[in-house]
Amino acid sequence: MTGSTGGGATVIALDVGGAYITAGVTAEGGSLRSTERRPTRIDRGPEAVLDTVLDCAADLAERFGPAAAGLTVPGIVDERTGMAEFAADLGWCRLPVRQRLAERLGIPVALGHDVRSGGMAEARAGAGRGIHYFLYLTVGSGIRATVMLDGQALTGTGGGDGELGHIVVRPGGEPCECGGRGCLEAYASAAGIGLRYAKATGENGVTARLVQERAAGGDQVAAEIWGEAVDTLADALSIAAGLLDPERVVIGGEPTLVGDRYFVPLRAAVAERLCYRPAPAIVPAELGDDAGCRGAAMLAQDLLSREVLP
Ligand SMILES: [Zn+2]
Repeated sequence: MTGSTGGGATVIALDVGGAYITAGVTAEGGSLRSTERRPTRIDRGPEAVLDTVLDCAADLAERFGPAAAGLTVPGIVDERTGMAEFAADLGWCRLPVRQRLAERLGIPVALGHDVRSGGMAEARAGAGRGIHYFLYLTVGSGIRATVMLDGQALTGTGGGDGELGHIVVRPGGEPCECGGRGCLEAYASAAGIGLRYAKATGENGVTARLVQERAAGGDQVAAEIWGEAVDTLADALSIAAGLLDPERVVIGGEPTLVGDRYFVPLRAAVAERLCYRPAPAIVPAELGDDAGCRGAAMLAQDLLSREVLP
């Protein structure tokens, strides 16, 4: 592994999601000592969301006097230029967010992608510790992935990699938000599972975990939808595992919180598909909702370590 989870200087970290902003400050040794959440409220428009991010960071900076800040956002992110190229969840398009935050705070700022940074946090402090090469997945409103090699996320040409959720697993199937049909996330994301259940039963607002509980309790519709979520994810993972040959697959997100009831059938379904080779270990993420924020803190710490190098 490269990099470090340590670091003497205090940094602040913000992970901006479609629903809420998770913000934290590092403790002695570099771990996060506290996190807090504020609603993102994207209904107010992209500039207002940016103002909330800047205000939240400025508030933390005033309270804790950090040496640097780390910020992670979803969508297409170019870490090198500090641009949020496109974030549908936030309404951001070609926004120089690193520059805007650095101007507001007057300290160095690192910008990262939420899933790649979450993968980095799992690599250094979670389920990827000591693992040279693994695939990290988040299963939430969508399904996103990143390939972690020696503690760093592999980044594609334009920062738009990892969209595992839009692999077509059921051609001509369920419509997807991307405009296509039959995409993985229409079946296996937390949002997709809930939506399919709502369409089948007319009952809105049932979470993926609740669909699983109902399936276990004998609800046939729930069992079919949950089974299809597992099968489609296994289809996609068997493609990814055959292509990339990771040592391990680390998965986080709301549906995975049911533990063995998620992972045992998923491992079996992946192994069945990878009949020609051993399947990688498939394990739960360890850092939960704080992975992105932990990753943001690590980016800020890395920035400081680079600055003090000769
Ligand atoms: Zn799609």
